[in-house]
Amino acid sequence: MKIAFLGLGQMGRAIAVNLIDAGHTVTVWNRSEGRAASLGEAGAIIATTPRDAVEGAETVFTMLADDKAVTSVVNGTDGLLAGLGPDAIHVGMSTVGVGFTDDLAAQHIAMGRTYIAAPVFGRPDAAAAARLFVLAGGDANAIDRCRPLFDVIGQRLFIAGPKPSHASVVKLSGNFMIMAAVEAMAESMALCEANGVARGTFLDVIQNTLFNAPVYRNYGAMLAEERYRPAGFGAPLGLKDMRLVDEAAEVARVAMPSLGVIRNRLRSAIAAHGEDIDWAGIALAAKPAV
Ligand code: NAP
Repeated sequence: MKIAFLGLGQMGRAIAVNLIDAGHTVTVWNRSEGRAASLGEAGAIIATTPRDAVEGAETVFTMLADDKAVTSVVNGTDGLLAGLGPDAIHVGMSTVGVGFTDDLAAQHIAMGRTYIAAPVFGRPDAAAAARLFVLAGGDANAIDRCRPLFDVIGQRLFIAGPKPSHASVVKLSGNFMIMAAVEAMAESMALCEANGVARGTFLDVIQNTLFNAPVYRNYGAMLAEERYRPAGFGAPLGLKDMRLVDEAAEVARVAMPSLGVIRNRLRSAIAAHGEDIDWAGIALAAKPAV
């Protein structure tokens, strides 16, 4: 299949490599040219603009930082929509806002183009291992057409609903739950540590009893080892996601009091430890003073 892939950050690069390795013809574009050039060695065709990348493509993936990045790549004379064919499908994998996703879908419909959302659960190592969980939202036929590609990049596809924003809200809600779990673990580990119980001992108990789930195992190990660099998912991106959760909650008039704690923890972690800390670094604020 002829594929265009726009956005070669930690996630996009790993996903694009898997699509190339599966035998697809993949044209790539990235804002900073160096990242695209290195994918040329892996077999990708390098495009100089989003428009060039998507012309002639059957499926176009975007995996960009945030709403602003997607807006700048989609619009303009050299933008994605200027080159997207009427039979092509734009698959948005970035984690973006619920209202933003509705607007993006409407923009595609107004131009007779197809947009589905397919954000993912899984960090860069899961992307490289093709073990992502893909959450798709949008037209069922369009999702079906992309299914073979989702099979290449992930371990399971979930259909969130008929609107692209259904996938966005599921993804954002899941990310909120990850942060809530990390905060609860961090507070509990601090309490155990303050009473002389090692973090690893506490983790061994919880992950093998009541909390035997990937989020506790994976993030629990990071917290126990206090391993927050290099960031697999940077705290600034996590803060962006929590802002998007808050935006959606405000529109829907849903109270999420613990979200306020988490947003403040992320702000503090970035202010105290820098932009390059992993979002699980919120645990540092819960650590007892020595
Ligand atoms: P990343 O490594 O920071 O990459 C971000 C990408 O967005 C880069 O290609 C960057 O281009 C591009 N970009 C940023 N601002 C832009 C702009 N204004 N115009 C054009 N391109 C722009 O991020 P990532 O970890 O791959 O995450 C990508 C998306 O996946 C995010 O929405 C994130 O929330 C989501 N996600 C991440 C993870 C994770 O664990 N990392 C897991 C699931 C979902 P440059 O190279 O030029 O900077």
